[in-house]
Amino acid sequence: EVAVLRLGHRPGRDERMTTHVGLTARALGADRVLLPDNAGQSLDTVADITDRFGGPFDVELTDSPQGIIRNWDGRVVHLTMYGERVQDVEREIRAAHRDDGEPILVVVGAEKVSFDVYEAADWNVGVTNQPHSEVAGLAVFLDRLFEGRELEREWVDADQRVIPMATGKRVEPVDEE
Ligand code: SAM
Repeated sequence: EVAVLRLGHRPGRDERMTTHVGLTARALGADRVLLPDNAGQSLDTVADITDRFGGPFDVELTDSPQGIIRNWDGRVVHLTMYGERVQDVEREIRAAHRDDGEPILVVVGAEKVSFDVYEAADWNVGVTNQPHSEVAGLAVFLDRLFEGRELEREWVDADQRVIPMATGKRVEPVDEE
């Protein structure tokens, strides 16, 4: 299992970012996302996209993100610009996940992340050591973790699917027997 935990959510200001953490987790191969309990609006959007475009993907609220980290039965990856370079640790993380079957919790922040998280993480990982965005960091990290295989994923229980095309936009209803 690969789950993504969003730490912190400032209502209003973080609405799109938190939603995009959820949508990116879903699109790029994670199994579920855990959002802070004041991010109900983001949860609704992610659940709605999953209903329309398929899953399986789970979105949940948590009133104790720290508890999720503390009690995680697997390995914890905290994405931070201060961490070790993703290209230096990705093999080790893939081995834990793929070869040893360790569930991975990927933690991303919003504002300042408390030092406890740095200490609780098995790996603090930087996608570059430059400041940027939790959405970008998550996307690159998941793509490295899955080595691009997430791009081939099939979706189940979708109502609609996009037909890829060079020009134009086509969305078709999905008839499932
Ligand atoms: N300045 C805050 C701090 O010192 O904790 C971080 C705020 S940043 C806008 C929000 C989140 O984006 C971070 O918590 C981290 O998860 C992610 N992030 C930003 N830059 C990153 C990078 N270079 N690599 C990995 N994650 C990054």
